[in-house]
Amino acid sequence: MNDIKYIKGIGEKRAEKLNKLGIFNLKDMLYYFPRQYEDRSNIKNISSLENNEKVSVVGKIVYIEENSPKKGMTITKIDIKDNTGYLKVVFFNQKHIVKVFKVNDTILAFGKIKKENRKIEMHQAELEKINTNSNKNLSLYPIYPLTYGLTNKELISYFKNIIEKNNINIKEYLPKEVIKKYNLCGINYAIKNIHNPESKEALKISLYRIIFEEFFILQLGLFLFKGGSESNTGIKFKIDKRLEKIKDSLSFKLTNAQNKALEEILIDMENEKPMNRLVQGDVGSGKTIVALLALSNVVLNSYQGVFMAPTEILARQHYISFCEVLKPFNFNIELLVGSLTKKQKGIILEKLKNNEIDILIGTHALLEDDVEFNNLGLVITDEQHRFGVRQRNKLSKKGVSPDILVMTATPIPRTLALILYGDLDISIIDELPPGRKKIETIAVDKSKRENLYKTLVRNEIQKGRQVYIVCPLVEESEEIKVKSATELTYELKENYFSDLNVDILHGKMKSKEKDDIMDKFKQKQIDILVSTTVIEVGVNVPNASLMIIENAERFGLSQLHQLRGRVGRGSYESFCVLIYESNSEVCKERMKIMQETNDGFKISEKDLEIRGPGEFFGTKQHGIPELKVANIFKHMKILKLAQQETRYIIEKDPNLLSLENKDLKHYILDKFETVLKEISLN
Ligand code: ADP
Ligand code: MG
Repeated sequence: MNDIKYIKGIGEKRAEKLNKLGIFNLKDMLYYFPRQYEDRSNIKNISSLENNEKVSVVGKIVYIEENSPKKGMTITKIDIKDNTGYLKVVFFNQKHIVKVFKVNDTILAFGKIKKENRKIEMHQAELEKINTNSNKNLSLYPIYPLTYGLTNKELISYFKNIIEKNNINIKEYLPKEVIKKYNLCGINYAIKNIHNPESKEALKISLYRIIFEEFFILQLGLFLFKGGSESNTGIKFKIDKRLEKIKDSLSFKLTNAQNKALEEILIDMENEKPMNRLVQGDVGSGKTIVALLALSNVVLNSYQGVFMAPTEILARQHYISFCEVLKPFNFNIELLVGSLTKKQKGIILEKLKNNEIDILIGTHALLEDDVEFNNLGLVITDEQHRFGVRQRNKLSKKGVSPDILVMTATPIPRTLALILYGDLDISIIDELPPGRKKIETIAVDKSKRENLYKTLVRNEIQKGRQVYIVCPLVEESEEIKVKSATELTYELKENYFSDLNVDILHGKMKSKEKDDIMDKFKQKQIDILVSTTVIEVGVNVPNASLMIIENAERFGLSQLHQLRGRVGRGSYESFCVLIYESNSEVCKERMKIMQETNDGFKISEKDLEIRGPGEFFGTKQHGIPELKVANIFKHMKILKLAQQETRYIIEKDPNLLSLENKDLKHYILDKFETVLKEISLN
């Protein structure tokens, strides 16, 4: 019954198209919001039109001319006239135009002006007949997001139909008090005006309500599924004197920034309140050693610690370096990853339960239910942005109020951190270890590829360095024309580097194979490593000095920065070459940012701005509702109000059990459905 095809004004055929947009019922439809509104109120006289502007012109049709199709293309030209002159409106392949519009009709044409010498034309135009006695507001024209097989115009007419033919009556879910306190309009008013604005003012009021609601629901929801308010009694660790010994045994001195972060962590650990801290530090700033020292202090206090990394390669690398550094101190360190045999895993789990393991390093495999600690004191997640909020929480539930530390090279603006992590303290490592050289970044068009192989790649290899080449996808795919890593490896071996060792690393390989390849690369038995993004995070081979990234325009900026961070890890001068295959302005802009700055903080801010938080943090794939209208940059003020109200409500009614919050809770549960399927909520 709820199915969109049964809604008046839709029907089976239209429903099919709507399904492709993810719209299956009336609610989906009503919450499918325009991404922007075009202001068509800018009506200009024909005599004052300027090249390239998007404007509205009101005039009378004086002539319609349809050319017979040439090479399958029909061109329709409509001459319109106002008091100041004539304008030609040109349509390509829109045969219906001649059927709908007639000479002498008064119309509003909205489109882009092309002006050359004395010729004025309007292209990409949309026409509307104007009924002189209608007072419909023409100024706000909703533009909906990507519409597969559906034009924006069609969607607009669906909405009009739905709103006119059905009695839209959504039950208000925001508590009365909240509506009153923040002077919000009702949900029905908001929905109607978002799709079919009565006026600019009405639209503004409606958007305000929805923006507030999106922030509010997101935060309340995250709070609820985090499991209510945080406990105030955790573990009170001592700062063990032997920690200094471990520090002194390192082959380098910590940077000031590392020392400061460590100090902040240790102060938190001494405190009874559980630590909840984010360490942000650019790629290569040395976060791992800070984690190692924090974990060491936990072990020296006779607790267990766990360190989770997003890939097996990275987990193994951490494991090896931990074993090396901590060898003189006799800690029991183990690695738990998906590729272990059942038997190996069984042994580790047994030891873990019996407190025979001090530090457990691993991947997602750590999250499984049978992983039980004896007395877990500290949970560290490396490269936090690669995990969902849910996963971090799952790991910390394996202890009793353990301290929590998350590390990321992709910094998060404070306000967003508050949304995603609740009340999180932040340490920043804003200094690279001494001796690092800047990574010279160059962006080139794909036609330069061969030249690049013959010069820069050869040069680096001659100097004894090694090279990474990153391709976005492994398999051949017609739709997405990306050079496959396999094909590229072959091509390189055949045509350019038959004298060198070229090998491949990709995500579909077995872990053992991956490890072997990485080992060979570390031992310098491979000169050029062609890889997919599996090497994105953390991999540390200081002898590699050149990274080439194919189809660079397909990556997010932060991801490019992460990838780039695989070189410049030693004292050699290092390079990153971005090969792009697009001429779009956005692409150029992005390449420019990468060339101009090596500052991960700036880059991730830009990235967040371009991509929006949903894609940036992968919240979308974790079932966390996406912000459709709200924008954390543009709507900071509303965000703060919503945060304030969230705190207020949570304090009064932490589990939303009261009657006035009943509908609100229901709505949140519905929105967070996919997340909650996996986490039981009391
Ligand atoms: P990231 O912050 O990207 O995780 P890592 O922890 O992997 O960085 O550190 C990068 C490299 O820098 C490692 O080889 C590490 O041993 C080295 N390193 C870390 N701290 C220092 C330091 N204070 N002085 C010199 N080298 C350091
Ligand atoms: Mg790291």
